Amino acid sequence: MSLSIGACIAQDTTARVRRIQSEVIGVDTHIDTMQRVLMEKVDIGKRLPDGEVDLPRLAEGGMRAPFFALWVPTFYKGAEAVRRTLDLRDAMQSVLDRHPDQVELATSVADVERIVLSHKIAAILTLEGGHQIDDDLGVLRMYHRLGIRSMTLTHFRNNNWADSSTDKPQHNGLTDFGKEVVREMNRLGMIVDISHVSDKTFYDALAVSTKPVIASHSSCRALSSLPRNMTDDMLRALAKNDGVVGINFGGGFLNQKEADKELADINRIGSAEPNLTGKALDDYTANMWIKDNWRHPRPTIATLDDVVAHIDHVVKLVGVDHVGIGSDFDGIAEVPQGLEDESKMPALTAALLKRGYSESDIKKIMGGNFLRVMREVIGK
Ligand SMILES: [Zn+2]
Repeated sequence: MSLSIGACIAQDTTARVRRIQSEVIGVDTHIDTMQRVLMEKVDIGKRLPDGEVDLPRLAEGGMRAPFFALWVPTFYKGAEAVRRTLDLRDAMQSVLDRHPDQVELATSVADVERIVLSHKIAAILTLEGGHQIDDDLGVLRMYHRLGIRSMTLTHFRNNNWADSSTDKPQHNGLTDFGKEVVREMNRLGMIVDISHVSDKTFYDALAVSTKPVIASHSSCRALSSLPRNMTDDMLRALAKNDGVVGINFGGGFLNQKEADKELADINRIGSAEPNLTGKALDDYTANMWIKDNWRHPRPTIATLDDVVAHIDHVVKLVGVDHVGIGSDFDGIAEVPQGLEDESKMPALTAALLKRGYSESDIKKIMGGNFLRVMREVIGK
């Protein structure tokens, strides 16, 4: 029996993609799966029929070092935001305790390398919203003690010390206390994440930070004009700082035709002000989460090719050392066709190979660039 030349090449490529994906340490710098664990009580130790992430699909996709976001909506105020953060940290702990054979907490690059080598998922913890520290550096330091290694300075709304990209400017970027937060994160070894911040906050954070920063889940504004995305000038400044942007897979982040819908979602969630506390507030949030039904994404025209186009854009502008993956899976309303969940990541590797990227470039994009930043900020 003989195969056609075309079939042989296809088989070769499949084997090559499989090998590359088994060799990379895939880092996805933003997944919202902990919301599902806390509110839907899903068991991510087994493959779930919905949503985009669980431990088996992370392993299958070669994305063995995900940043689990402990996201607290901005309508959790003050001490309520701290309580909610601890509840999410507790949900993460329940996963770590229940599946020690599949996942382990990683607080350094050495941890990541050791855990991945033992065929487990290395869970890196991150906060999504500076309001979660309740304007208190002591709270920030205790989060670091709980294993959290990164934080976005804002979410959809301004907080008391930083302006958000999707709110009206209030502080002209970072306040003096906001600058102190950045300095304390540098000192502790926590990565400053500038996804969600206003353009001015971004430049202020870069001016203060002595370490590389990341945009964990943003894309390119030149391709989709969304305030959550980064302008070319911002990408150039990020590269100069030796930072990395993780391309967000949300439909509106990738494709201009979906941007209005994305902004409407952001404004709806960002303007919610339930004025509740305790269990009533948690119930309100759970209702909102279930109603949004992000575990069953809406159809979208965004595709795998859009993701490649955003990666290409960054690479052409500033080189291959400053781009990575920040899917935002389990927190986006649409997922790109061809990259519907975490297990599909080999399709991205195949597309990058086809586009002429070398294996070493692909390894940087899939995770190597973010590991470099972790090493520089957190230490080995
Ligand atoms: Zn986000």
